[in-house]
Amino acid sequence: MSIKLFWEDTYRAQNEAVVTSIDGDVVTVDKTVAFAYPGGQVFDTGTLGGFPILNARYENRELYYTLPAGHTLNKGDAVTVIIDWDRRYALMKLHFVTELLLVVLGKNYGRHKITQADILPDKAIVGFDWNIDIAGTFPTLNEELKKLIADDIPIISAYQDRENEKRYWEIPGLAKVPCGGTHLKRTGEIGPFVLKKIPAEKGKAALEIELTPGNG
Ligand SMILES: [Zn+2]
Repeated sequence: MSIKLFWEDTYRAQNEAVVTSIDGDVVTVDKTVAFAYPGGQVFDTGTLGGFPILNARYENRELYYTLPAGHTLNKGDAVTVIIDWDRRYALMKLHFVTELLLVVLGKNYGRHKITQADILPDKAIVGFDWNIDIAGTFPTLNEELKKLIADDIPIISAYQDRENEKRYWEIPGLAKVPCGGTHLKRTGEIGPFVLKKIPAEKGKAALEIELTPGNG
């Protein structure tokens, strides 16, 4: 199984690795900074052995990277894995502002079933089974989120079950949440953001979070 450097050091953008298997366009390596895990945060783009990572998936604790057809890698090759750091850091900010938003929403409005949670490089999209005009929550959300960010609170990230690679983040006194994403070290890193209401089916609600232009 590949060693997940993206959990051991979330801020690491490249590593040296050895190719451990090749199955056509799909390659595995012995250790990697390039993230993929179920749960909403999209996989990292970048290069592996100089070839662009077209897709990445996590399955049974292994990471499978799809490279272009015609790549020339072989099992045993030494390679460098490099991720698009600016894209990843934006994903981490959007991921964690979404985590905080869900905590603040739950605290103020109760828990509602989440029907969508997509953390994309340019925005996060969250949908709920919740019959509400979501824009009505924005003043409260903006005020409480901005305070949590301004307070620049340390964030704990660790394994709750190392063998099965189940992880969590925690801010003591605020929340402890199971999640395998790549989390920031401090809330202050999120910086300025903007909430937008987006269309949803009847009886549902959805919003988008974007980083304010110039963030970062
Ligand atoms: Zn998370």
